[in-house]
Amino acid sequence: MIYAANFKTNHTRKSTKNYIEELQTQLHQKKSEDKVYIFPPLTALDSFEGDFTVGAQNAYPVEKGAFTGEVGVEQLSEFGIKTILIGHSERRDTIGESQGEVAKKFAFFKEQGFEIIYCIGESLEVREQGIEAVMEHLVSQFEGIDTTYENFVIAYEPIWAIGTGRSATVEEIVETHNALKKVVDKPLLYGGSVKGANIAEIAAIDNVDGVLVGGASLKTETFLELVLH
Ligand code: PEP
Repeated sequence: MIYAANFKTNHTRKSTKNYIEELQTQLHQKKSEDKVYIFPPLTALDSFEGDFTVGAQNAYPVEKGAFTGEVGVEQLSEFGIKTILIGHSERRDTIGESQGEVAKKFAFFKEQGFEIIYCIGESLEVREQGIEAVMEHLVSQFEGIDTTYENFVIAYEPIWAIGTGRSATVEEIVETHNALKKVVDKPLLYGGSVKGANIAEIAAIDNVDGVLVGGASLKTETFLELVLH
């Protein structure tokens, strides 16, 4: 299983360091085949070492240059960052990244050999139209994406389940993950209100290869509850 913590715009440089130090003291308890990823805010990136991988929540698809306010590969390389989240619904919907921009980022970071955790997900309106509409929407989010890329992990995150406390049901996850695996056979994470109370049932689903976690990843205790469940 993959356990990925997305801090979003939470934690500081200091609190991220404390979090990671505390986490590392407990990670010897995890199963050796399990993988832990931490996505802190960009200002908190550093050369952390331990049984986890630190990645960037976002970056601009350039090496370096005149892109005021952005961070490129040169800045990530300083800390050995080779993993990135692309296509999170907050970047698509709140920040306004189009599928074209998302695909451009994907192509650039693929070229750089980054491990890409690529997020897809539907709105409640689409979910209410049924699985065919959901799949049509999800497949449209692969437009311009090289789904054969070897360093590619998908995170299925229904938007209506993100940060709402309402996870998708086991049936909804089973149906959607089974359908997605037929389209792209890559490691597939579920994200959307994963917490201590539902990790066991979600992790037990066949086509769930891991979880991407927002709220429950913000404290080491609640994230460890997932990793060590
Ligand atoms: C996320 O934003 O990737 C996420 C899954 O958030 P939460 O766990 O808070 O629903």
